[in-house]
Amino acid sequence: MPTSEAALHALPAGLHPDTLALRVGLESSPYGEHSSAIYLTSCFVQPSAESSARRFAGEEDGYTYTRTSNPSVTAFERRLAALEGAEAAVGTASGMAAILLTCIALLQAGDHVICSRSVFGSTIKLLGTELARFGVRTTFVSQTDVAEWRAAMRPQTRLLLAETPTNPLTEICDIRALADVAHGTGALLAVDNSFATPALQKPLALGADLVIHSGTKYLDGQGRVMAGAVCGSRALIEDKLTPFNRTAGMALAPFNAWAVHKGLETLAVRMQAQSRNALHVAQWLERHPAVARVIYPGLPSHPQHALAMAQQGGCGGAVVAFSVKSGTPEQARQRAFHVIDSVRVCSVATNLGDVKTIICHPASTSHGRLTEQQRQDAGVTQGLIRLAVGLEHPGDIHTDLARGLDTCPDLP
Ligand SMILES: *Cc1c(COP(=O)(O)O)cnc(C)c1O
Repeated sequence: MPTSEAALHALPAGLHPDTLALRVGLESSPYGEHSSAIYLTSCFVQPSAESSARRFAGEEDGYTYTRTSNPSVTAFERRLAALEGAEAAVGTASGMAAILLTCIALLQAGDHVICSRSVFGSTIKLLGTELARFGVRTTFVSQTDVAEWRAAMRPQTRLLLAETPTNPLTEICDIRALADVAHGTGALLAVDNSFATPALQKPLALGADLVIHSGTKYLDGQGRVMAGAVCGSRALIEDKLTPFNRTAGMALAPFNAWAVHKGLETLAVRMQAQSRNALHVAQWLERHPAVARVIYPGLPSHPQHALAMAQQGGCGGAVVAFSVKSGTPEQARQRAFHVIDSVRVCSVATNLGDVKTIICHPASTSHGRLTEQQRQDAGVTQGLIRLAVGLEHPGDIHTDLARGLDTCPDLP
């Protein structure tokens, strides 16, 4: 919102995304700082009572109170919108706040949502359980079968929510095909782009109406802060989502906004380098005798490899899922835990998007609160391990995985 269209408008037209990632933001303060300032303030001094009144009425540009807006948040919103090719963006306190904001600002009791069964665990919980209490019904369908999405459409369907690649199985959905399904009846398509980021995939250019981010992941890139955002048209963001967020208070904190704003400066190089490392590790895992299956969009063995390459600029992304060979689910869990507990370089944690490689067991962590049926529907088995590959030397990552894979307890 307020101030400094100047910074944006001073830039020449036609700049490439690599340049926008560094140059779009706010103009510097009178002190001329080169890095962006952090505006750690909860409110803003007003030039006069009259001016304050006009700002509160929305008749004059200018900041008033940080729940409403803050320059550090504006800088991030502008930069992310530029990278996604969106007219506008709204920052939120977390990725889940971005999903909640999208649903709650656009839907009402009686409305219907269609979502893939394979999306992030908390998204399934939010739609399937929490929003259901308020009369918003969700049908969960196959991630990859467009016909199931089409068949699930009802007159009350307002929103299709897709995530691609998914967490943790990196299943790909066809954004353009889902946009066609949604638009056939005037519904909206929102795409959670947390895994690919605009460095690899631009859902709006493929027909999506909204792009959702967990900024906590690759936008920050160094695992420091919680953040989220939604990008889209001015009509959706500025007229619907931003006003609701101001009331609801799921505002992005200025310090966190600053961290993700700076993170965007290195997003493209990180995504390229981490994808290269992930491909190396995935290829190595595919050759290991203790590994049952490797799921990585950059491998020709991935069921949607061709679609992924076309939709993600030829890049597989940085998340690799693999399962250990096993007998019963209990044995699978033991073997997966053995591999995880044997690492000495990778971090055992439940996050992704960091430049440090993170290993986790989705069935007992990110998807631990789901029912066994929901887990099975999402394909999250007990033997599954998620690796969010970072910037270490890829040889050190595969050597670290070999510690456990080479010494897996024998199957009976
Ligand atoms: C982590 C994640 C979220 C939730 O983001 P938070 O910032 O943790 O709230 C949503 N979608 C995907 C794909 C994620 O990986």
